[in-house]
Amino acid sequence: MQYISTRGQAPKLSFEEAMLSGLALDGGLYVPESWPQLSADVIRSFAGQPYEEVAYTVMRPFVGETFTDVAFREIIAKAYSAFAHEARCPMVQLAPNHWLLELFHGPTLAFKDVAMQLIGQMFETALGRAGKRVTIVGATSGDTGSAAIEAFRGLDAVDVFILYPHNRVSEVQRRQMTTPAEANVHALAVDGDFDDCQARLKDMFNDHTFREEVSLAGVNSINWARVLAQVVYFFTSAAALGAPDRKVSFTVPTGNFGDIFAGYVAKRMGLPIEQLVIATNQNDILHRTVATGAHKKQGVQPSISPSMDIQVSSNFERLLFDIYDREGAAVSALMDELKSGGFVLSQGALEKLRAEFSSGRCSEDDTLAEITAMRKRTGEVLCPHSAVGVFVAEAERSLDVPMVTLATAHPAKFPDAVEKATGLRPDLPQHMSDLYERAERMTRAPNDLGALQQIIRERRS
Ligand SMILES: *Cc1c(COP(=O)(O)O)cnc(C)c1O
Repeated sequence: MQYISTRGQAPKLSFEEAMLSGLALDGGLYVPESWPQLSADVIRSFAGQPYEEVAYTVMRPFVGETFTDVAFREIIAKAYSAFAHEARCPMVQLAPNHWLLELFHGPTLAFKDVAMQLIGQMFETALGRAGKRVTIVGATSGDTGSAAIEAFRGLDAVDVFILYPHNRVSEVQRRQMTTPAEANVHALAVDGDFDDCQARLKDMFNDHTFREEVSLAGVNSINWARVLAQVVYFFTSAAALGAPDRKVSFTVPTGNFGDIFAGYVAKRMGLPIEQLVIATNQNDILHRTVATGAHKKQGVQPSISPSMDIQVSSNFERLLFDIYDREGAAVSALMDELKSGGFVLSQGALEKLRAEFSSGRCSEDDTLAEITAMRKRTGEVLCPHSAVGVFVAEAERSLDVPMVTLATAHPAKFPDAVEKATGLRPDLPQHMSDLYERAERMTRAPNDLGALQQIIRERRS
């Protein structure tokens, strides 16, 4: 399997190269040259299998020669051994024909662990055998950073720098990034919002001299390997509900479009998905895009679901590539327009978008009300992101098709919103119950490319 850039001007890469480089040299994102197909029989066989088995079968065709079968099985086994639930990504039922897919049983309590734990093991194996060292730089609205630090802390071949928006992540998120004591971990509190952090990260990747100098590697959701890891749970959950003999729908609380794009990939691979619903908070650029065809930035309004406070949704570029018939030049032109505010989809592209996705938006008040209502009706305590998903799913679903809403974080990761909605402060799971007592370590940094590059040069080992 080879990987091509969404902008059509970068060399084709292997899985290993695409994983280690993140962003393509032409500024695009890597996507597989074609979508591998899984037969109905194979999908049917997933019901009842351990998560790791399904993960192996779903991801194997994408990995090519990068890992042997044996090595890849070991990587998967190690990646999910730190999960606190034997099913890894279990489901609970919320209502007749509505399920919640719990993706928060990893070490940092958000779905980002599902991909990041795997990436940590893949990097370690690939770099270790090549005798290489890389500098991983990531931008986070909170959860990616903690998941990356947790996945890479203490590894020999990696320094990890995480840019997060100062004062705009929850205390649990911040502490998960600032309390690991390992010398290869560096949390940078940037004076700006998440889009600033993401823009500085992109600038670093586009500075080819710097990129070479520090052996820059990226693990943001633009990294193809992250999207790939997330494809797996669409298969495990759908098969548990009767796929491929029964269609299943999904609602995904969406920010950077990585998680829902993974659902789209599952569909391209043969999983019969009826609806893929994009759920946004008040930062609703993607909902407006589906509704109107205009993809226009409006600035970020901080919300109680901060991991979705995004206006530039990086992985949307991967979908654009497909709905513009894989023409890199068309995607490049749209991305240029986006820099100065936005673009309008062509009629053909909009029709293709609407054929694959529907969407909904959840206000701050509705998010809180959904947390309150779900606790009352089912006893389930939702994190605010998952509540956005459940609210939109209830509005969009057709009652005769099973709906799976992705629960993207544990409620204890966002205790203030949950307490406001329920009157109860959710407890942290036991393995991190001393998080509030651990010493913190971070560096304040300006929203400035040169200054950030200097910090990275000085700190990396
Ligand atoms: C990252 C994140 C999201 C958004 O996922 P994307 O892949 O960026 O769309 C939603 N909820 C939580 C808790 C997250 O950490």
